[in-house]
Amino acid sequence: MSNHLIEGRTIRGGETLMPGEILIPSEQIQTRLKEMAPQIAERHAGRNTLILGILKGAMLVTSDLGQYLYDAGLKDTTLDFMRVESYGNGTESTGQLTIKQDIMEDITGRDVLAVEDIADTNHTLNFINRYLLGRGAASVSIFALLEKKSRHVVPFQPDYVGFQIGNIFVQGYGLDYKQMTRLNRNIFVGPVEPNGR
Ligand code: 5GP
Ligand code: MG
Repeated sequence: MSNHLIEGRTIRGGETLMPGEILIPSEQIQTRLKEMAPQIAERHAGRNTLILGILKGAMLVTSDLGQYLYDAGLKDTTLDFMRVESYGNGTESTGQLTIKQDIMEDITGRDVLAVEDIADTNHTLNFINRYLLGRGAASVSIFALLEKKSRHVVPFQPDYVGFQIGNIFVQGYGLDYKQMTRLNRNIFVGPVEPNGR
């Protein structure tokens, strides 16, 4: 049983795709965000929510989701970012996290909606959740655009998930390989070398 408030829509067959092939086209990402926004907006109504994008990967999804939330009537929000980095071999998180850029706003007593690109091992989301509560947030809700359930090392439940994907490395729509392809509007199967697309 899942405790997700919004369960991710399952994307099947990704394992059979070749690097470079599109897994989730831009239109499908946008449709999903639009569909989720009213439910999320309803839950955060009247709470003066701080929308917190986790850089760099969640830059695009924070912007797009934030606009759909606004369209859905959630206008009483502020926007901030933090940047967290995990040491590892480049494709896997180690659980050793450092804050590279901290939140600028005082989050004491605030309801925080953290927006992340992907829940993989869950080290990052678990860290961020504890960090925000430690800084005095009244509540922390987590939005993850993608979730790889089969890869979780730490049990952690994001509140809102866009898509469930298999054990595949993906790029695009904020996600990089060697810092490239973040601005590709589609999510595609990697690894694709810089200049590969
Ligand atoms: P975690 O393993 O802590 O749950 O995820 C840490 C970070 O690893 C994510 O925020 C994301 O930046 C990166 N990551 C995890 N899976 C992928 C993936 O499939 N592609 C890319 N480009 N980054 C990923
Ligand atoms: Mg990330």
